[in-house]
Amino acid sequence: LASKAHANHKSVIQLSDHVTVGGKDLLIVGGPCTVENLAQMEAVASRLLTAPIQALRGGVYKPRTSPYAFQGMGLEGLEILATVRQRYHLPVVTEVMAISQIEEIAAQADMLQIGSRNMQNYDLLKALGQAGKPILLKRGLSATIEEFVLAAEYILAHGNPNVVLCERGIRSFDTYTRNVLDLGAVAALRQITHLPIIVDPSHAAGKRELVADLARAAIACGADGLIIECHPEPEQSVSDARQALSLEEMAELVASLKPIAVAV
Ligand code: PEP
Ligand code: MN
Repeated sequence: LASKAHANHKSVIQLSDHVTVGGKDLLIVGGPCTVENLAQMEAVASRLLTAPIQALRGGVYKPRTSPYAFQGMGLEGLEILATVRQRYHLPVVTEVMAISQIEEIAAQADMLQIGSRNMQNYDLLKALGQAGKPILLKRGLSATIEEFVLAAEYILAHGNPNVVLCERGIRSFDTYTRNVLDLGAVAALRQITHLPIIVDPSHAAGKRELVADLARAAIACGADGLIIECHPEPEQSVSDARQALSLEEMAELVASLKPIAVAV
């Protein structure tokens, strides 16, 4: 179902009345790694609404490497997302970590993110077939392109045709960047599948000074959009502070994408 042979045109997926991904407009998703409080999310939405970004991100259930690290605000964070979503008419994307969270998150969010660590959680993927919302499927930390496409296939095969792929960097021997952004995968996926493909340069880079260049390269490579971490006070981020852009940096980056998108 994911293969290009199955659909002879590219899938365009609807996030809201006005926002799509996979069509001619880029989807730029911006926001913090973690929802921390209402003021933080208001600051992001109000500054970036006109940048413009098309959707907001923010995790409320966080897959943290250490069990002692902040695990996310949960339902309280979801309420904050819902408030900002309504106030600014911006679709929101947030991560679902467990089958038990699907219903509550699908009731408030416009797209459900499946994180890298859950890309091969097949029971979760099957359950997403009935989620009734588009899915943003992130590539596993060390998943091959074929494993990635087959993970999407699980969701499609179980009844949800609206899957957006996200390349977010893969593990390698080099620790200078957090992960290695695989733009080769973006080029390949565009040939293999009709599903939209977006790129997360933040988790690939791990360092804010590398994010903008990777983002521009991704668009030049034909990605349908980007998901980027930014924060009103990047250094104060409760998670992934080192890779967070300031809101000004984010706005500048968004502006710099336009000529590249036109040229592709
Ligand atoms: C995130 O988007 O904050 C995240 C945890 O991403 P990934 O699953 O790609 O590590
Ligand atoms: Mn993060």
